[in-house]
Amino acid sequence: MRVVGRGGANVLIEYGHPNWLWRCCVRWPHLLSLNNAYTIENIHYIKNNVEPLLRGLLCPMELTDVSTDVLRPILNIFISELDEKVVKVIKIKNLASKIATNLIQNDHLLKSYCSQNFQTILLELKPKWIYYDTDYCRNCTHNALKGRETKYCYNQLLMNSSHLETMLVDYERYPNEFKATILEYLRNANNVFKILYQLQRKLTENTIPIKNLRSIHDIKDDLLLLMTLRDVTCFIEWNSTGNTLCVHIVDVDLKPKEKWTHWTKTQCQVESGEKIFHTSSK
Ligand SMILES: [Zn+2]
Repeated sequence: MRVVGRGGANVLIEYGHPNWLWRCCVRWPHLLSLNNAYTIENIHYIKNNVEPLLRGLLCPMELTDVSTDVLRPILNIFISELDEKVVKVIKIKNLASKIATNLIQNDHLLKSYCSQNFQTILLELKPKWIYYDTDYCRNCTHNALKGRETKYCYNQLLMNSSHLETMLVDYERYPNEFKATILEYLRNANNVFKILYQLQRKLTENTIPIKNLRSIHDIKDDLLLLMTLRDVTCFIEWNSTGNTLCVHIVDVDLKPKEKWTHWTKTQCQVESGEKIFHTSSK
């Protein structure tokens, strides 16, 4: 058993099964019971509120109980008091490819893995605010604020599939068949980015702007859902055998309402800094 991934609020654990991982919440560092309660609320939220919107693209996952004794060596690092006998764990399909294991691009918003000879390619993508209702681009402006030298933008990719050439380092190294297939997918009206764009757009129209939030009571369900959809990860795997694409969405967790102060602070920084339409002209 070993930790194979670590986010701000979760650890991903390989437990001996080739196709599944355990995802444990460690958002609350003091008590396991708080993390367990959140995990139960979170899986219900994902199944009831998020999955129906994602048109079959949600990564398979389910709630399971694991004995605290089994996870104690790992959880001891993250949670000080393991005050319940079971850990509420989300068992999630392992989307990491067993074949495409060479990490050839590793940005904050894009990772690309390939196999020897590029027969399998796995892209891990974070489209973030793919929709925005400002005259500047939220993603490009936020990247500049954070000092990231990201040249590409998922909003541009949505509007123009050939922006993929700007996104992927050493684009010419990728097989032509892969490029043709993914470019065709990106032009498809039902691709993962168009789905996220439409959902974000509809929810943005129904929610009060972040800058206008004044208290936790202003945080409605639609805003929480919007913030979830602004923080997902998309996996696109291409296999040369059959020339197929397999697309999944993960990281669809319920955001705690307490995060609203962080959201307003960030929004304030974005609005008071330099605004950028798009970093790239292509
Ligand atoms: Zn942009």
